[in-house]
Amino acid sequence: MTVQPNSIEARDIAYHLHSYTNARQHEAIGPIVMEKGEGVFVTDTDGNRYIEAMAGLWSVAVGFGEKRLVEAASRQMAQLNYYHTFTHKSHGPAIELAERLVAMAPVPMSKAYFTNSGSEANDTMIKLVRYRSNALGQPQKKKIISRIRGYHGVTLASASLTGLPNNHRAFDLPMEGIFHTTCPHYWREGRDGESEEAFATRCAEDLEALIQAEGPDTIAAFIGEPVMGAGGVVVPPATYWEKIQAVLKRHDILLVADEVICGFGRTGEMFGCQTYNIEPDIMTLSKALSSSYLPISALLINDRVYQPVADQSSEIGTFGHGYTASGHPVAAAVALENLDIIEERGLVGRAREMGELLQAGLRTLEDHPLVGEVRGVGLIAAVELVTDKAAKTALEKPGALGAQAFAILQKNGVISRPIGDSLAYCPPLIIEKAHIDLIVETTRKSLDELH
Ligand code: PLP
Repeated sequence: MTVQPNSIEARDIAYHLHSYTNARQHEAIGPIVMEKGEGVFVTDTDGNRYIEAMAGLWSVAVGFGEKRLVEAASRQMAQLNYYHTFTHKSHGPAIELAERLVAMAPVPMSKAYFTNSGSEANDTMIKLVRYRSNALGQPQKKKIISRIRGYHGVTLASASLTGLPNNHRAFDLPMEGIFHTTCPHYWREGRDGESEEAFATRCAEDLEALIQAEGPDTIAAFIGEPVMGAGGVVVPPATYWEKIQAVLKRHDILLVADEVICGFGRTGEMFGCQTYNIEPDIMTLSKALSSSYLPISALLINDRVYQPVADQSSEIGTFGHGYTASGHPVAAAVALENLDIIEERGLVGRAREMGELLQAGLRTLEDHPLVGEVRGVGLIAAVELVTDKAAKTALEKPGALGAQAFAILQKNGVISRPIGDSLAYCPPLIIEKAHIDLIVETTRKSLDELH
């Protein structure tokens, strides 16, 4: 693409530093500037229309251009555009959303706490966990265990939880006290002859060994996504969560479920925790909570967390944490309307139904010479690309094959997401069979072009 002087692309290059982008490469090739969204489609300023097979960033559950959310935002803005939740102040949308999330939780939860992004929710989780340990008179119990290739955000603390080198390298992370255990990706990490269950047992043993090495009474919490998203859509092997939870229970370690991607239908149940029988003490939520029409995130905490925190703040005089926009009334009103839409349109059941079609459709690509593994559950999936199926390897430069496939697929009208050498798919929950067929056909055609 050649960038015309003074064009919108040229201005983007001139003034805008992008997230997750190679800055020098961006100077050379410029952006694709999106202009309009409707249903599962987005259109750029050159008039090219794409199926947004990633729902933006795993987030636009109810699809683009949903008028009901526009109207909900407009009504709330006219009524009370802003108020905060510090020092005993509150407002209707925050109260209603807190009540609704607690009622929706798959396990008994006591309170909702509002933040503005997944990163802030997980950052806040670390602070709550520390605060709780201090309250319980266990100041040594502060370490947190996360997983290699887990993704939990980009603030200093949440990026430390994230288990990806790119989020640590050059930022002097991870912070002290955060540890990463085995990634439960059976296809990649399983040994020759090892069953899925045996691999799950090994993951739990690795966790146990890390806990023993660090000292069980120093570990406060374990965090995991029910299905790993940004680390490459890693679906846990059979019996994994059961075995991990048994280890955590034995050592009195809190379980945090990062439902930022899985929450609100993605895996075919309302929460990923329901798909995998996970019983968390804390849940972090964002993305599909508002379908990303506005930024909002939340933590749900149970009484094991809430009661000591309440006791401690009574001791100190206040709970010294909060964001100006925590529980923003317009974002909360949009989230409430979004949850209404998810329920009224049966989008969780739809994710299950369409999910089966997406998974089956993508699995037909397994015979392609460039496809090593197809994995996923519900409406989240990944196709792992290889150049040598037996050795499970791709091009010498990691990620090069994935990047090439992504670019061809995008040129052909489907936006996926390259993660290493895999292509991720996470479409809006309103997706229809015809769109899924188109995604699968276009992926095959694009891989043929690449081969
Ligand atoms: N947790 C998970 C599972 C995520 O996928 C993400 C973002 O992709 C985050 C946390 C961070 O959320 P945010 O980008 O809103 O800070």
